[in-house]
Amino acid sequence: MNNSNRLRIAIQKSGRLSDDSIKLLLLCGIKVNLEQQHLISFSQNMPIEVMRVRDDDIPGLIMDGIVELGIVGKNVLEEIALSRQDQEKSIKYQILKDLDFGICRLSLSVPVDKNYFNLKCFNNTCIATSYPYLLKKYLNKEKIQFSSFLLNGSVEVAPRAGLSDAICDLVSTGGTLETNGLREVEVIYHSHACLISSSKDISSFKKKIIEKLLVRITGIITARESKYIMLHIPINKVKEVISLLSGAEHPTILNLVGDKNRVAMHMVSRESIFWETMEKLKILGASSILVLPIEKMME
Ligand code: ATP
Ligand code: ZN
Repeated sequence: MNNSNRLRIAIQKSGRLSDDSIKLLLLCGIKVNLEQQHLISFSQNMPIEVMRVRDDDIPGLIMDGIVELGIVGKNVLEEIALSRQDQEKSIKYQILKDLDFGICRLSLSVPVDKNYFNLKCFNNTCIATSYPYLLKKYLNKEKIQFSSFLLNGSVEVAPRAGLSDAICDLVSTGGTLETNGLREVEVIYHSHACLISSSKDISSFKKKIIEKLLVRITGIITARESKYIMLHIPINKVKEVISLLSGAEHPTILNLVGDKNRVAMHMVSRESIFWETMEKLKILGASSILVLPIEKMME
């Protein structure tokens, strides 16, 4: 239980989620010096302390009520929840927000020279993994008989070293698998980072800070997914532009000085604007097309 008056937020100390987690906290307006590698850093402008730990420790810290907020991959969250369930420990938590980073998948891979047809090929195999609980949950549901062993690093070398027939590991591009002569054959879990909170007693003072941060994080993520579009277009093509940019809301139309036939359109689009869309706008007669990133947004 955290009895201090400061809201504790746990993030990964060093690894794939660290930079994006720190960036998100800073964008939220939390002033904190994270240059020194301290376990706990105090914010200078908000009653918040940032705790930096191994990602595997974050779900437990939340479920035991030691920290109120955490940023962790869903893969780790689910794996730890399953292992704690096995040990009859508390597994209460809330997912406050799915975040837009840490995107990866947990996959089964086999050596490239091995024939593979379907999941039944995993019957009577030995699989190396850092995620034994997620693997067991998936293969038990499919009624596959297998054995697994835990490796917390270098999982991808296990088959070549003669330790296992297959691996179950995180993949983002597939480059590591290829380098190690492996082929991804089944995705068992899609993952991304998420903001989680403890379900234990949280004071109303801290709840208010959490609400404030949640609004800011939602604004940051919506802004990152959105674009501000500006273009010039013949007046008679305005409707066609609106239907082409269906993700855009209430465009603003402005007159152009010295040009009665064309107008400027400004709008926010919730969808990515691809080159293909810009080319279609060009065919409609658009010019001076600008697509700008948005830093912050509040509904
Ligand atoms: P720690 O020292 O904190 O235990 P780690 O080695 O377990 O670190 P990282 O490799 O830094 O963990 O990955 C942290 C999280 O980043 C993963 O659990 C996953 O949610 C996410 N992730 C995103 N892409 C990948 C990837 N290509 N490989 C592994 N993890 C990824
Ligand atoms: Zn880890």
